[in-house]
Amino acid sequence: MDHYNQLLENSVVSASFQEIADRQENALRPKMLADFQGQARLKENLSIFIQAALKRGEALDHTFLIGPPGLGKTTLASIIANEMGSEIRMTSAPALDKPKDLAGILTNVTENSIFFIDEIHRLKPALEEMLYIAMEDFEIDWIIGQGPSARTMRIPLPPFTLVGATTKAGSVSSPLASRFGITAHIEFYNEEELANIIHRSSKIVDVKISEEAVLTLARCSRGTPRIANRLLRRLRDFASVLGEGTITNEIVHNGLKRLGIDQQGLENQDRNILRAIIEHYDGGPVGAETLSISVGEALESLEDFYEPYLIQKGYLKRTPRGRMATSKAYELLNIKKKRNTPDDDQGLLF
Ligand code: ADP
Repeated sequence: MDHYNQLLENSVVSASFQEIADRQENALRPKMLADFQGQARLKENLSIFIQAALKRGEALDHTFLIGPPGLGKTTLASIIANEMGSEIRMTSAPALDKPKDLAGILTNVTENSIFFIDEIHRLKPALEEMLYIAMEDFEIDWIIGQGPSARTMRIPLPPFTLVGATTKAGSVSSPLASRFGITAHIEFYNEEELANIIHRSSKIVDVKISEEAVLTLARCSRGTPRIANRLLRRLRDFASVLGEGTITNEIVHNGLKRLGIDQQGLENQDRNILRAIIEHYDGGPVGAETLSISVGEALESLEDFYEPYLIQKGYLKRTPRGRMATSKAYELLNIKKKRNTPDDDQGLLF
């Protein structure tokens, strides 16, 4: 379970449920593109590229999936393999320590198969270099021996598709990024798409849910399927213990309150972040590192998990000088603005 999974898991359920939740997540993963909800343009394009590759009997071009955690990058990688009728090997960059770890996998990929690397922005430079040579030339240079007697052995690889996923496209070096022939940005899901996902998942986990409850839950899921699915499972618990088994709108409201989640899907930590900017830094700007220390949150989870949704909802701005709370954040927390600066500062977005 990666850092983000853990973060998401901890934020809505107790850690002891993690392993079970992981297995349940796999059960909910769509297997084919037709079951993958939303992201219409991405799906349509991907489907064309897959069909074209199949027609030519070639590997699909290397594919770069970019987007916040829980939006379906891993799911898409396995869907690509299923649609291509090919094998998939999955790893994540932090699990690859030495060049031999990567070489071990690359020399075992089969023709036209998929090799998925999650969190590819965390790949070490030496491995990154090996990877982009493998992507472009389908070979790796392996150094045997040491010192003056060292020599390079060229190992050919079969054509394969690298699917790289990242939450931070800006942290991927340009030589690596430029070797992906297909780049797909995965966006937050709208309420209708999330409602479809909740309908599908509720059938799989076999729980009844009212139409109103589906819509409320969709609204509170931060545009993120993983959160929608996890909340659905927790609400199923509330429904079975506190109700009659069906997830009603009342169960959703009551359950979300118990989990500290508001009507827009904001958690306590979201509010802590906004409150810290407003109360300790006069609305900002404040650097991400300082802010992460202030609220006791890892910098990575602040940047990758909390901020994208707060920005999307219009509560936070990223400027070159740091993070700033918007007027909407003041309204949310019911705090009166002391001065006019935050929203007047039209800092460049980056
Ligand atoms: P990421 O790799 O981007 O962190 P995942 O691919 O692990 O996200 O997706 C998290 C969960 O959300 C999966 O178990 C899957 O069930 C669900 N999911 C993600 N995207 C979709 C989608 N478009 N349609 C249906 N379910 C989805």
